[in-house]
Amino acid sequence: MSSLDEYLEKRDFQGTPEPASDSGTGADEPAFVIQKHDASTLHYDFRLEVEGVLKSWAVPKGPSTDPSDKRLAQPTEDHPLDYATFEGIIPEDHYGAGTVLVWDLGSYRNLRAEEDDPVSMTEALDAGKGKVWLEGQKLHGGYALVRIDDAEDRWLLIKMDDEAADARRNPTSTEPRSVLSDRSLREIADDAEESSS
Ligand code: MN
Repeated sequence: MSSLDEYLEKRDFQGTPEPASDSGTGADEPAFVIQKHDASTLHYDFRLEVEGVLKSWAVPKGPSTDPSDKRLAQPTEDHPLDYATFEGIIPEDHYGAGTVLVWDLGSYRNLRAEEDDPVSMTEALDAGKGKVWLEGQKLHGGYALVRIDDAEDRWLLIKMDDEAADARRNPTSTEPRSVLSDRSLREIADDAEESSS
């Protein structure tokens, strides 16, 4: 069973513009993406490329650059790598209906692979203790992904206390636009409506 089965089962690719298959990014460094998703409740989808898929968490408040500001992160199904550059509208009556904006995109490093006792990304996430270094356009530096509740599978996304930590920044509010197209959620929605009418 592929880890993309749940992703594929939830979607009708005749109706949604989301990618059904995968061409791979072909990049040396694994990718990370954060997509702002204006679904029934607005949230940010945090995704890390791990072993050929995008491991995914829904973060209701989005990422913070303040280490004291821990953000709840709820795991969601693995997504195909091509999803990292998906931006547009998931139509009504489809799973996850609403507008998707690529809020940040870049590469990351597994910091736990650099420890004295190196741990792969898969092992780190299985144990509920991921540490990554993000090189995005908005976000930089270390982030921890920590499972705080095994039964409910609840996680926290926490900025690590490094030179990129900044309690005064608030990028989800001051830098709302797409890093791919420089569009706002509203502009993406308007463009999609125009091209479908
Ligand atoms: Mn979502």
